[in-house]
Amino acid sequence: MSLFEINYSKINAWLFCPYLYQFSYIEKKYPPRTPPSSLGTSLHRALRRYGENKTDLEGLLIAYEESWENSGYDTPQLMMEYYRKGARMLEDFWLAERDNDSRILAAEKDFEFILGDFAVRGTIDRVDKRKDGTIELIEYKTGESEKYSEEIKKSLQLDIYALALKRAMNLEVSAASFWLLASGRKIEIKYDPLRFSETEKFLLKVGGEIKAQEYSRKGDCNLCQISGLCKFSEIKKEKN
Ligand code: SF4
Repeated sequence: MSLFEINYSKINAWLFCPYLYQFSYIEKKYPPRTPPSSLGTSLHRALRRYGENKTDLEGLLIAYEESWENSGYDTPQLMMEYYRKGARMLEDFWLAERDNDSRILAAEKDFEFILGDFAVRGTIDRVDKRKDGTIELIEYKTGESEKYSEEIKKSLQLDIYALALKRAMNLEVSAASFWLLASGRKIEIKYDPLRFSETEKFLLKVGGEIKAQEYSRKGDCNLCQISGLCKFSEIKKEKN
């Protein structure tokens, strides 16, 4: 049986707009890098190294420097502005982490599990074992948005990753968290394993739509990261 691969990013692109999915995953074109996306990449690389070997602040900042992604910036000044912003985020992160007595079990952990005709794959930012033995799933977020306190309550990303930890590593997630690097704080929810069956149903439904390539709707082109590149963009049509 040949398995069709799905992951959170693919599903997210598909849910936003099937043509965004087509652009990224069928035509294999990539939205151009922006300062926030490049900063996010640099921070995730540095935090991966922190997770593999809890370092002191100096070590974390060296990892950041060595992990720096310099594409996506129009001027050296803009790049320096973002570099300093990222360094401040890591300093705040390190100070907040200093008193955390959890053990990091995994950083940037790749997973795969089979669900129906689908191979569900992805990479989890971090998994901690707390002092009381419970498991915490953590995703780093680098955006400035206030939306995360609502988003965490119904995050598909956390649902998929909690399911993956159960299915691929037999770990029961008790708490799921977003580490908000821009505001220097972590928010968490108690994770309810009853969400697993809903998540599985949702993945099977959306995976089936992706596989069948049902291009019967469009997303909001005004909010789309590829509105200037997409041949189906409503914005381009209005301008022509
Ligand atoms: S520009 Fe519009 S049609 Fe194209 S991918 Fe984005 S939302 Fe979809």
